[in-house]
Amino acid sequence: MSSPRPTTTNAGIPVASDDHSLTAGSNGPILLQDHYLIEKNAQFNRERVPERVVHAKGGGAFGFFEVTEDVSQYTKAAVFQPGAKTETLIRFSSVAGELGSPDTWRDPRGTAIKFYTSEGNYDLVGNNTPVFFIRDAIKFPDFIHSQKRRADNHLRDNDMQWDFWSLTPESAHQVTWLMGDRGIPKTWRHMNLYGSHTFMWTNAAGEKFWVKYHFKTDQGHDYLPQDEADRLAGADGDYYIRDLWNTIKGGEHPSWTLYVQVMPFTDAADYRFNPFDLTKVWPHADYPLIKVGRFVLNRNPENYFAQIEQAAFEPANMPPGIGASPDKMLQGRLFAYPDAHRYRIGANYMDLPVNRPINEVNSYSKDGQMRYSFGGQDPVYAPNSKGGPHADRAKSGEDDAATGIEQEVIRSAYQLHSEDDDFGQPGTLVREVFDDAERARFVDNVAGHLLGGVQQPVLDRALDYWRNVDKDTGDKIAEKVKGSGN
Ligand code: NDP
Repeated sequence: MSSPRPTTTNAGIPVASDDHSLTAGSNGPILLQDHYLIEKNAQFNRERVPERVVHAKGGGAFGFFEVTEDVSQYTKAAVFQPGAKTETLIRFSSVAGELGSPDTWRDPRGTAIKFYTSEGNYDLVGNNTPVFFIRDAIKFPDFIHSQKRRADNHLRDNDMQWDFWSLTPESAHQVTWLMGDRGIPKTWRHMNLYGSHTFMWTNAAGEKFWVKYHFKTDQGHDYLPQDEADRLAGADGDYYIRDLWNTIKGGEHPSWTLYVQVMPFTDAADYRFNPFDLTKVWPHADYPLIKVGRFVLNRNPENYFAQIEQAAFEPANMPPGIGASPDKMLQGRLFAYPDAHRYRIGANYMDLPVNRPINEVNSYSKDGQMRYSFGGQDPVYAPNSKGGPHADRAKSGEDDAATGIEQEVIRSAYQLHSEDDDFGQPGTLVREVFDDAERARFVDNVAGHLLGGVQQPVLDRALDYWRNVDKDTGDKIAEKVKGSGN
């Protein structure tokens, strides 16, 4: 059959048939010279890249970020200057489940945003929660192992999860969050996005500030009760992906308003909580939210694999005016993300259209599998006298000012500030933020999870953990668990 778009091999050569391989007679063996058949099957065997170890299941969309206010007194970053409008990509995900896992399992949601700025890519890789389970990257693989599958039977195991959590009291704030209503958002549109870490901003005069990002949903908060989430996990495992796709396809453009909390640089030393500890928030009463702009999603991907599965976010991508803080989780992630991409996608993951910055790249990195871009006649080394690019410290935004890093090389916990403890903020969340109805659902959620196979002595340790968060709530959880005969 003649077609205006004939099927071709990967080399662009027209092929003879989509239906029949080349055989010796109609019943005969297949000939090795049927290159198209072999190419097609060989490529099929290689269609998957390794799924992400963490945040494997997700979806995403393109959009823009528009600055509506003036925060130039805090940062010189082009993306945050008054009136700036920047193209963006976001990938939403769950944390523990694999690529085919149900969207509505109780889990934090990852919110990785790429801003294609005029000064290079800015990647803000956060969650729908302002805090995290641990405060030092050295524990991250152990934490994730405890949330994934056992070595022997390959099953997820609540006992393993609570064993880790109850031995790691710094997890109490995030676990409280997770077991509350916001632990299962109604859709990705109905939740806040947080940068979670503390970052450093620098203004044009070189003054430094510590910042935290809060993207508040313009759709309003909404959540799924446990039983509805459980039903959806069976009925529609891709519930969130479908919702986002259909919403944008239908012409609705979900949006979030970005606020930041700004802490003067010198406040960090003796603020009542350690401001770099990822298990803590900065109470709004101390550092109020300052509005920055609007983040809008308006375009679905055209190809999920090319634009979402191969999207590579890395917290180390921070243009001038934005920098890291001494947060020990952030420091670990600066390394771990690009390393994951090199493994999953290959050394030249930045060459893919979805990952390429919109500005010119003048890097001395070269070669490697699947290299696409190249610098023509540029010399391949620096320094050189052949007209190649030269580093410019002033343009980079880097300087010698203190970043809060201690000079002494040690292994230790964070320096404790006067009100640092593991249970204070989760206690505030349970007592002062949750209302009575949410508190009751919270007790049910935690008790239900504990009844899902948590054994002694982990069970008693978990009940003590909740009594430490809030005595009354812990007692109610214990009553439910013991009342059921455990
Ligand atoms: P505030 O009363 O000033 O802020 C409370 C915050 O809690 C608001 O941002 C609100 O978000 C959020 N919130 C409301 N309901 C829930 C819920 N069910 N689960 C989780 N968060 C919810 O208090 P503080 O700043 O003193 O913080 C008190 C506690 O609130 C903290 O320990 C923390 O757990 C939680 N929280 C604090 C945040 C912060 O940055 N300070 C951010 C988010 C939570 P919204 O306005 O969008 O409804």
